[in-house]
This record gives sequence, C-alpha cells and structure tokens, in this order.
Amino acid sequence: MSSHVDGKAAAGRVAFVGAGPGDPGLLTARALELIALADVILYDRLIPREALAGARADAELRYVGKQGGGAFVPQEETEALMLERARAGALVVRLKGGDPFVFGRGGEEALTLRAAGIPFEVVPGITAGIAAAASAGIPVTHRGLASAVALITAHEDPGKPDAALDWAALAAFPGTLVFYMGVRTLPALTARLIEAGRPPGEPAAVVAQGTLPEQRTVLATLETIAAQAASAGLGAPAITVIGAVAALHAELEWRTPGPLAGVTVAVTRARAQASSLAAQLRALGARAIEAPAIRIVATSDELPPLGEFDLVCLTSANGVELLFERLAARGEDARALAGAVVAAIGPGTARALREHGVIADVVPERFVAEGLLDALAGVDFSRVLIARAARARDVLPDALRARGAVVEVVSLYETVAEPLDPAVVPAIAEADYLSFTSSSTVRFFLSSAAPGPATRIVSIGPVTSATLREHGLEVNVEATRHDIDGLVEAIIADHEARSAAA
Ligand code: SAH
Repeated sequence: MSSHVDGKAAAGRVAFVGAGPGDPGLLTARALELIALADVILYDRLIPREALAGARADAELRYVGKQGGGAFVPQEETEALMLERARAGALVVRLKGGDPFVFGRGGEEALTLRAAGIPFEVVPGITAGIAAAASAGIPVTHRGLASAVALITAHEDPGKPDAALDWAALAAFPGTLVFYMGVRTLPALTARLIEAGRPPGEPAAVVAQGTLPEQRTVLATLETIAAQAASAGLGAPAITVIGAVAALHAELEWRTPGPLAGVTVAVTRARAQASSLAAQLRALGARAIEAPAIRIVATSDELPPLGEFDLVCLTSANGVELLFERLAARGEDARALAGAVVAAIGPGTARALREHGVIADVVPERFVAEGLLDALAGVDFSRVLIARAARARDVLPDALRARGAVVEVVSLYETVAEPLDPAVVPAIAEADYLSFTSSSTVRFFLSSAAPGPATRIVSIGPVTSATLREHGLEVNVEATRHDIDGLVEAIIADHEARSAAA
C-alpha cells in the first residue's frame, strides 16, 4: 500500500481527526488536508457526509460506527483494523464527529497506538456541545451568567441516567451544563437534577442536528424541557444546555431559514462536481446528499493538433478540463486554440474555458446539442473538432457533417459507474428531491438504487428527462435553463409552489 505524508513516502501512522459538528464548513483546514492525503479513512456515523468528498479516489473508506441502533463495528475490530493498516504503511485517518477527544473514544484508541509504538497525530475538531449551542445563539459562557461550562455524557439508558454521575455535584455546578445525551434520557436526567437541587425554573434548551440545515431548537425550563422537546419531535443527535445562558437563544438566534430550509436534495453527479452543487443547495438551506452515481475517467484517445481545425466544440466542463490537461501534457496551452472559433454548449462549459483564459466565441441560448447547432448557423467552418465524452449523442457531429464540414470527434473521457455508498442509500430514499444532471447519472444511479416513493425527480433538461422516462420514471421537475443554476432555480420554484399549495 502506498503512503503519502505531505507528498513523501513514510511509515504508517494514524491521525485522529475531528470532523466537527456536522456543517462541512466547520471542518478544519488540517482535517481537509489529511482527508485528501489519507490511504485509509475509518469514519464514524456523525461526521458530515461531505467530509469524504475530498478523499483520494483510491483511498479505502470504511464506516466503523454504530448503525442507528442496529449492527455496529465493535471497538476492538476498529482498533485492530487501524493497527493493521498503519503497520502496512498506510496513513490512516480516524475520522470522528466533533472533537476526537471529547466523548469520542479517541483517547482509548491513542493509548492502543502508543502501546503498539505507532505514531499518531491529533487534529481537534469543533465539539458539538459548543457548536450546536452557538449555532442556536447560545454562548456557553457569558459574563454575569456563566463563567464555567461542564460537558457531560452518560450511558444511554432512558430509565436511569448513569449512576456514575455525581448528580449532587452537577446540580451544584456554578455554570452551564451541556449534556451530550439523547432526547430519550431527558425525563430521567432532568428529574435527577431537580431532585438534587437544581432550580426547576432554570432555562434549558435542546438543540438537535446542530449546525446542519435541519437544526431545531426548543427552549423551556429544566422542569418542562423533556416534555417540550418530545412533543416538538426533536430527534438525535441533540445536546441539552442547562443554565441561564440557554435563555439567550430567544435573543441571539441568528440563523435565517433559506428558501430550501427543511428540504433534502440528493445529488447524483460525479463527486468532483457534486460538491459545488451541494454547497449551493446548502447555502439555500437545503440538506444536500451527495450520492455520486458516475465518475469521470480520462481516455487514452489521441488529441489531434488543434491547428488543423477552424472550429472547436466543447460540450461539458469536464471536456474542457481534460482538453487542457492533454494540452499541458504535450507542452501546450490556451494558445493552441488561437486559430479556431471556440464553441461551448452552455455557460458551465464557457465558465470552465474562461478559467483557462479562453472566452468562448459561441454559447447557445439552449444548452443542448440542437441549441449549439442553431447558434453555429452563421459561422463559417470547414474542419471541426468536437472534444467530448465517449458514447455521447451524435446529433452534433452528424449535423455538422451534413453542413459539409469535415468533423473529427475525440473522446476525452468516459463516464463510468460509481458504486453508491450504502450509507447514503436510506437517506436518498427519503429525499424530497433527487436530481439528475445527465443521462449517465440516470442510468448508473438506477442500476443500483431507486428513488423513494415520495421523492420528486428533477431533471436538468429534455435529454436527461427522456432517459428518465425510458427507465419508467416520471419527471416531476425539469429545469428551463439547462445548467446547474437552472436546476437549482427549478427546485426552488417547485418547492415554493408546493408550499403555497399546502
Ligand atoms: N466527539 C463528539 C461527540 C460524540 S458523542 C463531539 O465532540 O462533538 C455523540 C453525541 O454528540 C450525540 O449523542 C449528541 O449528543 C452530540 N452531537 C453530535 N453531533 C451533534 C449535532 N450536530 N447537534 C447536536 N448534538 C450533536
């Protein structure tokens, strides 16, 4: 197994990395760096799904957490795997929610490594107790209200919160209590605290899904919080804040719901591009599930000298990236396109060209092959290069040949199936929207999964819609502008129309 440590080969080692409370924006720079370098990533349930997006394509990604009450990977097995991979020379990232040393068993695992003589690094993460509170406008300390904060956990037994906890000491603690415990334990927990002398009228708040788009907060008192959180239906993961600071939620709540608040959208495009669409959706308040169904693989097809052509057509941003990679590999740059008219199929492709210093001469109004043909109506050309994906539609080359041009098609990349991560399959089935950005995303997604019964199917345009219908699916939303911005606009419009109707 290869190992990469800051670019150099090295002996195996382990990094305990905190992935933060859930919002992928709260991953640290060092966490992202190590995720990108790792040979092996052993991850838990509560990490942001997006955290793995930057992993190497050939990295081994292993889920070693608890599965919602069901099967789980025993601690010894996780530690054995970690030791085995590190001994084999791998850089192992042990990725944990929040901070690895706050209720994350990171300390135990580090002791095992020390005993085995394996070097390790610890990358702190933003712990949920502080982050979820802050995200709900609750500062865990506040001048005049709390000058100390206690982070507390116990075994999850709703009947009796851990006997190991000193309830009298917690009741007397002069500051904020933050419990990392399920909502189900709240009735017993609050009863114990009140019994031990904590004032029943003290402010208390539960923050569920802290820092995530679906974050919810309930503010009540120590006496009433259990019942109120239950009736509001707050679920895991959640923290409970007890103390005067909890009441600041009412004044300092700062998150404003975006137009897609409460909406879950699954994204099937390739991982490399899924993230930007997912980030756009999240910024609008949606929960985005990255479920890449395809992967882009460069082909070995020869790129002819570009000087031979008077028109070069590019039909995707991927095509642009790979074209420039090929040019760079033979010592060329954007000037190779100097003699040709450059046509881009749509604004995404044009944007990718612009990033390489080339302004497209032709960009159609309709972002499909037929649109590009219309846009080329007034353009003179005799030798055309179409740089695109393998097995794309032949509409464009056929029509340009029919106009008398000599057309060469070079396949720069191939779209292959990306196996769906089993951990995201249940979330996809429950998504409100499932988005498809190309026919290949449709084919490859449907070869291993199916949309949920209540999920609305979103298509980027007519070609993708036709493929969806061929596969027996109804298209609920079709973008009128056939690019990513258009897709997002269409989802917002559909959601608004449905909310208004409801
Ligand atoms: N090492 C983690 C804690 C692991 S224990 C950290 O430092 O945050 C898991 C508990 O953390 C959950 O039961 C819940 O109480 C809390 N938690 C994790 N993520 C959370 C989130 N996004 N919002 C609220 N609580 C969260």
